Amino acid sequence: MLPEIEEKVTRGERLNREEGLFLFHHHHLPEIGALADAVRRRKHGERQITYVIGRNINYTNVCWVRCKFCAFYRPPGSPEGYVLTHDEIFQKVSELMDIEGTEVLMQGGLNPKLSLWNSG
Ligand code: SF4
Repeated sequence: MLPEIEEKVTRGERLNREEGLFLFHHHHLPEIGALADAVRRRKHGERQITYVIGRNINYTNVCWVRCKFCAFYRPPGSPEGYVLTHDEIFQKVSELMDIEGTEVLMQGGLNPKLSLWNSG
């Protein structure tokens, strides 16, 4: 089915549901990337690629949930647990702004000692 999809992409035609599902299950990422790049080039020109500079700030690694796949968390009471101070968080935001970053993602564990309602 991939050759037919490539032809549709080249002609600028919209893919149907079955073709979309085929690509979803297709495991050769470079081929999908090449198709996506072809669409980008057609819509936005050869040399126009946009992106944002973002920073993921992990304000705490303490978490009670204990997801099996997670290597990030430390359980409550662990000596390796941390919580960033407001100053540390603002410093990281400032570093981001210094390089003209525009996106901050606040991400952390579910720390039972932190709460939006008692942070004062
Ligand atoms: S930090 Fe997130 S992914 Fe890791 S154990 Fe906690 S809830 Fe799960």
